[in-house]
Amino acid sequence: MGLTETRTPPSIEPLSLSEIVENGLCIGCGLCRSIAGAGDVEMVMTPEGRERPVAMQALDKPTLAKINAVCPGTRIAGPSPAQMDEAALTNTVWGRVERLVLGSAADPTVRFIGSGGGTLTALGQFLLSSGRVKFVLHVAASRSMPMRTERQLSFDPASVLEGAGSRYGPAATLVDFNDILDRGEPFALIAKPCDITAVRNLARLDPRVDEYMRYALAFVCGGASDLTKSEQVLQRFGLSEDELALFRYRGHGNPGLNRIETGDGRAFEISYRQLWEDEDKWMIQPRCKICPDAIGQVADIAVSDAWLNGGPAVEDEALNGIIVRTKRGLELFDAAVEAGALEIKRETGIAEIGELQSHQVRKRRAVWARLRGMEIAGKPVPFVTDLSLRNCALQNSLAENLAEGRGARDRARRGRLGEPPAVPRKAILKDGRP
Ligand SMILES: Cc1cc2nc3c(=O)[nH]c(=O)nc-3n(C[C@H](O)[C@H](O)[C@H](O)COP(=O)(O)OP(=O)(O)OC[C@H]3O[C@@H](n4cnc5c(N)ncnc54)[C@H](O)[C@@H]3O)c2cc1C
Ligand code: SF4
Ligand code: SF4
Repeated sequence: MGLTETRTPPSIEPLSLSEIVENGLCIGCGLCRSIAGAGDVEMVMTPEGRERPVAMQALDKPTLAKINAVCPGTRIAGPSPAQMDEAALTNTVWGRVERLVLGSAADPTVRFIGSGGGTLTALGQFLLSSGRVKFVLHVAASRSMPMRTERQLSFDPASVLEGAGSRYGPAATLVDFNDILDRGEPFALIAKPCDITAVRNLARLDPRVDEYMRYALAFVCGGASDLTKSEQVLQRFGLSEDELALFRYRGHGNPGLNRIETGDGRAFEISYRQLWEDEDKWMIQPRCKICPDAIGQVADIAVSDAWLNGGPAVEDEALNGIIVRTKRGLELFDAAVEAGALEIKRETGIAEIGELQSHQVRKRRAVWARLRGMEIAGKPVPFVTDLSLRNCALQNSLAENLAEGRGARDRARRGRLGEPPAVPRKAILKDGRP
């Protein structure tokens, strides 16, 4: 694997699942499990609080080659140069853009319940009510274990609303993606950029993806945290996971409170700032630190937070940054506005989005050097194409690139960018569930 921005992956031995995981490349999307089949690969929750695949028996070479071709830890492709050329605007850091606005869901309930301004939920609901798709694939809190996240198929607008809000912990959105394609019905995917990368990878091998997945909508993503991050919140209140009736990270306001309810009627809340105040305790997964496309260049529409006053208070104006990336996304966006599902506050531009998402700009400029550092340390890195990583890095000074590259090299040599082998965690609930 290498960093060149050519179009053909080098032919080398595919990585095994454990090599992908232990080199810190896995984000736990579940697509490999869906491809290999449940008997051959299972997802487990590890002691670190990550969902990871485990091969139940040795996988044959063609299966491993297919996994390497689709896994968003080994293969990350941006939009093709032709698609970039057709775009209304292209920017080195932000990629292709058809339109850039600040806006929100028009329905006040969706606006309130949604993570920022409810834009993704409103779009999902509109896709169903307009008959453009039969269902929406996204995620929602598990009903039985509400701090965990499960993939959800929503067939009606009320169900889309149930999945509103940001789920910061592990989420294996694609764990049964093959079964979803087997349904043979048009659908939309709302997910993390890396989930969409995985599905776009699969589209090169399986024509059903482009046939049935009509829209892919992403949120701009700062990284998925380990479940242990959420468990720390429980510890703060002396709670255990099996007492929970609700674990909401945010939403019900922008960003709203992290709210926990227990089965016996107690409620606990901390603010978004309290949840994320200590960066050392963010527990962001290793793959996120080298994410070349956390801004959803592969989506039809990518939606971000938009805190205009420099950062989140408890109850900001319900609002999103909306980056319409493709012609298909533009047609959807215009129709949703026309139908009264979305409201536009005003047009925005690259400069403002860059200010609102300055951490994303820093990451886009840092990733090329980080990957080089990992390569120098002898570690495998994803094969990245069409994401202008070199050009982003050129916006940094040589000293900044050297510091990023050396830092990643040294961390990789010390094993700090990798992960322990994936094993299921021991039972931690009173009733023995893992
Ligand atoms: C892990 C994570 C990191 C984020 N980092 C940033 C950031 O750096 N900058 C930024 O601007 N915004 C970030 N966000 C996104 C932000 O929190 C909002 O989700 C986004 O602005 C969309 O808002 P909305 O009101 O339209 O979402 P909503 O209308 O509430 O819809 C959110 C949709 O996303 C789906 N979803 C939620 N969590 C996940 C998940 N883990 N995996 C797959 N699908 C999921 C839900 O099912 C729902 O359909 C992050 C979100 C998450 C989950
Ligand atoms: S990122 Fe997804 S496809 Fe790749 S190894 Fe992890 S779970 Fe499997
Ligand atoms: S930062 Fe990248 S790898 Fe991590 S969850 Fe977000 S999109 Fe996926």
